[in-house]
Amino acid sequence: MTLLVVATGNPGKLREMQAYLADSDWELTLKPPELEIEETGDTFAANACLKASQTAIATNNWAIADDSGLEVDALNGAPGVYSARYANSDTERITRLLEELADQQIRTAQFVCVVAIARPDGTIALQSEGICRGEIIDAPRGNGGFGYDPVFYVPEKKLTFAEMNPEMKRSISHRGKAFADLLQKIKEVRS
Ligand code: IMP
Repeated sequence: MTLLVVATGNPGKLREMQAYLADSDWELTLKPPELEIEETGDTFAANACLKASQTAIATNNWAIADDSGLEVDALNGAPGVYSARYANSDTERITRLLEELADQQIRTAQFVCVVAIARPDGTIALQSEGICRGEIIDAPRGNGGFGYDPVFYVPEKKLTFAEMNPEMKRSISHRGKAFADLLQKIKEVRS
């Protein structure tokens, strides 16, 4: 087993990554709490890479990081890398998004997730990306999930992310697709 440090202080994210990588021979662990990394990149890929790279160098271990967010077509890709910083709570973020889109006919959007793995010297060993297309509806629906899930509607399923059970969301979500791609590529990474 090779140790893989997850560049997050969030035990929920560690559990989620452990579930995706359950059949691999990596042993996942949380990054040290004193290690704080600012997301200064202007793309999801830049932020995933800088978090993985800095965590790897600081711990001298392999490290994994992800970065994700919502890109709304009519807002030229906003909130994008600012998805978490768009307002102070999930409710306020949704309220702001719906206000920005008031009267807007074009409601298409996508969730994007980029995952990166860095070697102990900080170089990036692999990157993967997942995208899920959908539409922003004009009022929240459903109680599951988190973040923008209640207003993100997936036409093929006729459900918002917040109305899906976790298995369905995983099978079509940006994060699920990014990790499916990662699992293919991770076999080529020498541990
Ligand atoms: P991070 O990747 O943990 O930095 O998350 C970025 C932000 O994007 C989150 O705080 C959410 O606001 C939003 N986000 C990312 N993925 C999802 C999702 O699956 N559902 C709803 N919101 C999401």
